[in-house]
Amino acid sequence: MVKKGLRLDQIPERVIARFYERFTKSDDGCWTWNGTTKSIGYGYLHIKENRVLKAFLAHRIAYILNYGDIPDGQWVCHTCDNPKCVNPEHLFLGTPYDNWKDAFDKGHLQATYKKLGDANRSTRRLTKSQLVEVLELLDKGVSQSEIARKFGYLSSGPIAMIARGENYIQLVAEIRNKSQSF
Ligand SMILES: [Zn+2]
Repeated sequence: MVKKGLRLDQIPERVIARFYERFTKSDDGCWTWNGTTKSIGYGYLHIKENRVLKAFLAHRIAYILNYGDIPDGQWVCHTCDNPKCVNPEHLFLGTPYDNWKDAFDKGHLQATYKKLGDANRSTRRLTKSQLVEVLELLDKGVSQSEIARKFGYLSSGPIAMIARGENYIQLVAEIRNKSQSF
């Protein structure tokens, strides 16, 4: 995965130089990436490792160059919601949940939620207390297929969707918020 493991000492000087040539400073303060981008809009920079060219997320490189290595499992999120932005002042560390919650609060996921809501009607619904249990099991690292079996699903798909934050979106947010405030 492109997200994992790049450290400051693995970024060659020439790549750092390339990084600083690849963005334009906008009036709104964003440093907009001009290099390669992928479907969801994040910028990428390629680094050769053992003769293999690997793609790394430009905003993660921006973070590392300015603040140092990213702790394992942490995401680099944008305060400006501009995925192409590599201004370190617009970047903060978060978990995938923070990133998702942030997007949800800002309304970006409402359309997805509506779409999924329609799809949900045709599948078995979990009660809130079942969902609490599913989330606890996921947090403990129990496999998705095992959880799926426990709740009578034929495949791990529905649990995988919950784990990715694509199902029961509002309810999961409620449950997570409650457990965080303890
Ligand atoms: Zn920005």
